[in-house]
Amino acid sequence: MFQSSYIELSESAVQNNIDFIKSILGKGVQFSSVVKGNAYGHGIAFYCPLAYKAGIRHFSVFSAQEALDVSIALKGLDYELMIMGEIHNNELPWAIQNGVQFYIFELDRLNTAIQLSKKLKIKAQIHVEIETGMNRTGFPSKDLSTLFRVLEQNVGQLEIIGLCTHFAGAESIANYKRIKDQYNRFRKLEKVVNEMTWMNPIKHLASSSAAVRYPNTQLDMVRIGILQYGFFPTQEILVHYLSRKKGNVDKLQRILSWKTHVMDVKTVKAGEFVGYGTSYFTHQLTKIALIPVGYSFGYSRSLGNQGKVLIRGIRFDVIGTVNMSMLAVDISAADSIDKGDEVVLIGNQGEGEITVSSFSDYSNQINYELLTRLPQNTPRIIVK
Ligand SMILES: *Cc1c(COP(=O)(O)O)cnc(C)c1O
Repeated sequence: MFQSSYIELSESAVQNNIDFIKSILGKGVQFSSVVKGNAYGHGIAFYCPLAYKAGIRHFSVFSAQEALDVSIALKGLDYELMIMGEIHNNELPWAIQNGVQFYIFELDRLNTAIQLSKKLKIKAQIHVEIETGMNRTGFPSKDLSTLFRVLEQNVGQLEIIGLCTHFAGAESIANYKRIKDQYNRFRKLEKVVNEMTWMNPIKHLASSSAAVRYPNTQLDMVRIGILQYGFFPTQEILVHYLSRKKGNVDKLQRILSWKTHVMDVKTVKAGEFVGYGTSYFTHQLTKIALIPVGYSFGYSRSLGNQGKVLIRGIRFDVIGTVNMSMLAVDISAADSIDKGDEVVLIGNQGEGEITVSSFSDYSNQINYELLTRLPQNTPRIIVK
């Protein structure tokens, strides 16, 4: 494959992060590794085997397609796989036959799953999602009596593995009341379900933020996404964590670096515009380097005149607009930079570092968004 940039994934950082997350989980709490969004841009095909090697045995995705990608990445290995969102009725037979677990949040999917289980003589493995206040997917209270009746009548066709819900923003204290209300609603319902002796689902609702900030929400399982990739969901959650820990250090390590190389260097005389339009004007003789990465590679156009890159361990400014496939940086301050020199867009080089969060600040994207926009076809390379 010919490619102008590539992504490195650090195997030791994966192990470090998974060990760290386990250390903040209560005893016996199951760890589901959330790998939707192409493993937050890291690449399902590359990240899942590393996570498996680091001890993960439960993976969560959004869609049936992502579940298929995980099952290809982990072919022949023993693990659990859970679809938290979209699975079309005509994809259900695949899931049931392959022991892939899926959320149920409306009756049509439930009834179809029951019919298919009967036909295939294989029990569908389901997690029942309850609406507690996010107002996204999940059975609303008015449907619960029907839901429980259908479940009880068909308990022979089903493996009711989990009872779950999702918080509407546990990463911000501004949502405290809403989160607490959701938690209380869930626990109340849990008591009701515990009375129904014909099922015994595990209970799960916490993602990264809640698992750190409200450890009492960890229950039987946590669904951890962003933390495993080396990021606290927000500064607020990081500060919360640090304020409660002796030593005050962020033990997470970034897994991903994004690198390319200098494509061309040239000198522009004073009094010229650089690139499209008039957004950058040279006030003096300016040396520039052209980098073969643009917004079509996931490098946001809003980083024009904002972004930074590392070359030979030094930070340089992106100047002018970010083009579809190229950007320019001002290297006037450097003695010598040559065509072919390594350029770091995210990650470390020498003493320098470009963080995802600095990127996010400049481009008004949250780290989740920036990561998941890294294109699937950028090569991933695993390093120690
Ligand atoms: C994405 C997602 C998670 C993981 O969230 P993080 O903040 O990345 O830990 C957990 N549960 C559900 C339902 C999700 O969609």
